[in-house]
This record gives sequence, C-alpha cells and structure tokens, in this order.
Amino acid sequence: MNHNSPAEVRAELDRLTVEPKKRWGQNFMVNPRTRRKLIETLEIGDGETVWEIGPGLGALTTELVPRCARLILFEIDYGLIRHLGGEFGDHAHVDIVAGDFLRTWQQAKDDHGAPHRIVGNLPYRSASAIIAALVEHGALPAHAVFTVQKELADRIVAPAGSRNYSSFSVLCQCLSEVRSHGELAPGTFYPAPEVTSTVIGLRPGGAARRVRNRDVLFALIRASFQARRKTLRNNLLAQGGFGLSKADLLDAVEAAGVDAGSRAEELSPATVVRLANALVGSGAAVPPQAPLGAPEEEEGEPESK
Ligand code: SAM
Repeated sequence: MNHNSPAEVRAELDRLTVEPKKRWGQNFMVNPRTRRKLIETLEIGDGETVWEIGPGLGALTTELVPRCARLILFEIDYGLIRHLGGEFGDHAHVDIVAGDFLRTWQQAKDDHGAPHRIVGNLPYRSASAIIAALVEHGALPAHAVFTVQKELADRIVAPAGSRNYSSFSVLCQCLSEVRSHGELAPGTFYPAPEVTSTVIGLRPGGAARRVRNRDVLFALIRASFQARRKTLRNNLLAQGGFGLSKADLLDAVEAAGVDAGSRAEELSPATVVRLANALVGSGAAVPPQAPLGAPEEEEGEPESK
C-alpha cells in the first residue's frame, strides 16, 4: 500500500474494519521524508536487531525490513496485526509480538534477545510509561528513537532549573543521554493529531554507571518532586526519610554537598545520583515501587479482533 496517501491509509483501515483509536494513539505517519529521517537517525548497523513499537500499518516497517538482520514488531491492535502478518509474514527475519508492549517486552527479550535499536512513533498516552520501563530496567539499546508528544519531549530534555524540569526529566537524564531531533507538525500523520510531536533520541549514559541502588534513586526522585515548592528536607522527611533517622538523613544530604533547603527542580541529575548514593552509604533502603512514568490511564485488552 501507499503509506504517503491519507486516502489509501483510510481505505486500508476501512478494509480491516479498524477505526483509529485515540487511546492507542493511532495516527499513521504519511510523510515519507520524515520516515526516512527517523530511520537515518536510528543509525542501524550491519547484523543488528531492531524493535519497532506500534508498527500500525507498517509505514516505518517497510523501510526497516531491508535494513535489519532481525526485526521484532510490537503491536496491540489485532486488526493491524492481521494486516502486518499479511504484509511482512513472509520475511523469516521479522516477528510480530501481539499485545501491550508494557506487558510483552520482557518475555520478548528472553525469547529473541536484546535489541540493538528501538524505534517507534509511540502512542501518546503510554509513551512515558514505555520510555520509563526501558530506562528504569536499564534496557535501553545503543540507540532508541521515538516520536512523542512535544510536551513530553520538552520534559525529557529540560535542563535543571527550567519550567519543564520534572521527576521524568531527572529519571531519563540520570540513566541516559537524551536529545531532541526536531518537531513534527500534526499533518505528518493521518488522522492529524491535535498536538505537535517531537522526535527524541535516547542512548545509554548519564550517570547510570555510578548509581549504587536504583530503587533508592527512584524513591529519591519520587520523594523530592512530591511537592515542587517544598524544600528537599521537607519532601524527604514527609516521605518517611528512607528508614533513616532525621539526623542521619540530613548528614547524608550534607555529605553529598547538597543544601537541604534547596528544591528538587534546582538539582542536576548528577547531583541527584550523588545524593542517592550518599543515602545508600548511610544505610537507606526502600522497597521496589511502581515505575515513575505510569500511564495516564490503564490500557485495556485489545479491542478489534
Ligand atoms: N508506526 C505506525 C506509523 O507511524 O504509521 C503507527 C504509529 S501510531 C502513532 C501508534 C501505534 O502503536 C498504533 O499502531 C497502535 O495500535 C500501537 N500501540 C498503541 N499502544 C500500544 C501498546 N501499548 N503496545 C504496542 N502497540 C501499541
């Protein structure tokens, strides 16, 4: 099919009896230049395995098939999965994993091995949860390139002290190198979404190798951004102080060279990691918690079968 033609995309969706669903972010990329730019940005090397999250009707997939040694497609919509099976089922190096990526990716990693690259025009509503899952589990490959809502991208790349700097910025920047690759107008997609999109790239990096205990780091990020206007001291104490006495907690903050009267939005990712490590050194311990990029609403079971 011609992925550049909104009319053909519409006709194929009608043939599959798939009505584009907002909650699964079903906006299909109809701009060939943008698709090529995304694939170039991914920098696929010889012999590499690529994961595509949300292939939809296969607009990016068509470009990926000849460029990868293995291609794993993760799609939630069974109507689209039928289409993908028809289009790409004959390629021995392509596999389709059906279901919600958040529930399938870890098993897929066990079954097919870790990817070298991940790409996807992500569904807007679960983009932060998908990125958080990969970052928190240390599962980012050499390069991940995603299209996300501009506002989410702005949070991911926001520098410390800026208006958009949030717990999600800290999480992403503590554990990866992030970069914006430019904005996409709504007309890049059919149906056109109501928002502007941004292409972002994530590579392993940041202070990831210096993190002594990821659960303490995540708990620190969560606790320190709990109330943005509160001081670090008050936020940490309000969240239980990591099982430390008040004196030990404040000693650890001081040992990390951090002012307990500062606010989380002033702390750079490197400082947050240093503070988390100081807390670990003082005996802080926390139980594992829900991911920081929790979805805005629960994903349901696949709809169109
Ligand atoms: N890649 C296609 C393109 O660019 O034309 C479609 C992109 S569309 C923005 C998002 C795709 O992700 C849809 O095909 C949707 O069904 C799929 N999707 C939504 N939520 C998903 C999830 N949790 N797991 C896997 N796929 C999902």
